[in-house]
Amino acid sequence: MIKSKYNIFFDYEDRKIAFNAMTCGLAEVDDEFFSVYNSLDSISEDDSRQIVADMKKGGFILGDDSDELKILKYRNNRGKFNDSFFSLVIAPTIQCNFACPYCYETARPGMMSKEVQDKLVELVEQNASQKKNIDITWYGGEPLLAKSIIYDLSERFMEICSRYEVPYTAGIITNGYLFEEEDIEKFNKYRIRYAQITIDGTKEVHNTRRILKKTPEIGTFDKIIETVRMLNRSESRVVIRINVDKTNIENTNRLIEYLASPEVGIDKTKTNISFGHVKANTDNSSKVKSNCMSTKEYSVEVLELQKKLHDCGFCAQAYPHYPGIKANYCGADSICTFVIDHEGYKYKCWNEVGCIEQSVGNILWETTEYTDDMISRDIKYMTHYPWEREECRNCEVLPICMGGCPFDYVENHKLSCERWKYSLIDSLKVICLQRLSVANNA
Ligand code: SF4
Ligand code: SF4
Repeated sequence: MIKSKYNIFFDYEDRKIAFNAMTCGLAEVDDEFFSVYNSLDSISEDDSRQIVADMKKGGFILGDDSDELKILKYRNNRGKFNDSFFSLVIAPTIQCNFACPYCYETARPGMMSKEVQDKLVELVEQNASQKKNIDITWYGGEPLLAKSIIYDLSERFMEICSRYEVPYTAGIITNGYLFEEEDIEKFNKYRIRYAQITIDGTKEVHNTRRILKKTPEIGTFDKIIETVRMLNRSESRVVIRINVDKTNIENTNRLIEYLASPEVGIDKTKTNISFGHVKANTDNSSKVKSNCMSTKEYSVEVLELQKKLHDCGFCAQAYPHYPGIKANYCGADSICTFVIDHEGYKYKCWNEVGCIEQSVGNILWETTEYTDDMISRDIKYMTHYPWEREECRNCEVLPICMGGCPFDYVENHKLSCERWKYSLIDSLKVICLQRLSVANNA
């Protein structure tokens, strides 16, 4: 038998803990474990001891002929080329009512034309007959500037999905400023089941970062908090996104305390909180470069913030997050996912929306009209293979990172390590502590 390349051992108080990144198995281990682990040469695959079976199940040991890199390659290809679902990120407009200093998007005027809408409906119809799920994320710019387009298209998509008896799911990424009471019913009706809304600090900090374009002197904080409260009364889950950099990280603790306080009225069982890492990804956002944290700094801070969420009673999700196996990284390296802008241009990565030179086609065109550049851009994401780089090939968190953001690597030639590289063991120690205190109180 052989050892997994992805075993990570650490001490927690007086216990020895083992984690395996291929299976995400976590176990307290003892002398018997190490006695087997250190004598694998003499242990046969037919060994019927329970300890050997448990070690195999956790992925800590493998049969002699196992090749974990091949398994990872297989997983990655299955993830990338899984065509059982159809997932679109639709920007009915890329205009925005906000002017956030770190925004990376390239704005272009206009709303989605009827022609593009009809083509989207045709695409959903074609896919609904073949796929197991149709998933839509409304995106922008600010998508709620185009509410009537969102609701009209939702009606048409849902009618198609009900005809083909295929599940329909939807979510929205919005700044939350234009959400109104009557939208609660619409979100319920059109199955917009999650809404990601950014709040970048307590009122005085948020209002310097999330700024109305036309009337920057009017703060947006109070209105957005009201939107979260309204959404808590709908069937949508709210994800509050806090984009962190060196300038607001200190303030983020205070924001969490504010959001947790009963007077604010946010339902902690229906509200997730996530932390975005502000990066100067495009030329548009390069002016904030000096404010950005390194991934190592970000990883350390996020763990502390997730502990804070746990302590403040946010329980819609478990904090700190437990690592998960990644097949592929995101929609950019998935064959069935595209971002579509209001003019019908298709992109692989959310960062590229509005930048026509980065598009991989247009839904209004025949595929024969696609340029060589468009085809090669599509291919470069789909053929982003992290194990071709030595650092990733030898990295013990490869199965839970899968090489990091493809855009960073393909476009900027930067290795974009996931935060697990820096905070995995510390996160697992906190999780051990939480699990042991639950066990002790049971
Ligand atoms: S490539 Fe990177 S930036 Fe683009 S969608 Fe994927 S994770 Fe996001
Ligand atoms: S990107 Fe970094 S953390 Fe991810 S697999 Fe490669 S070396 Fe490891």
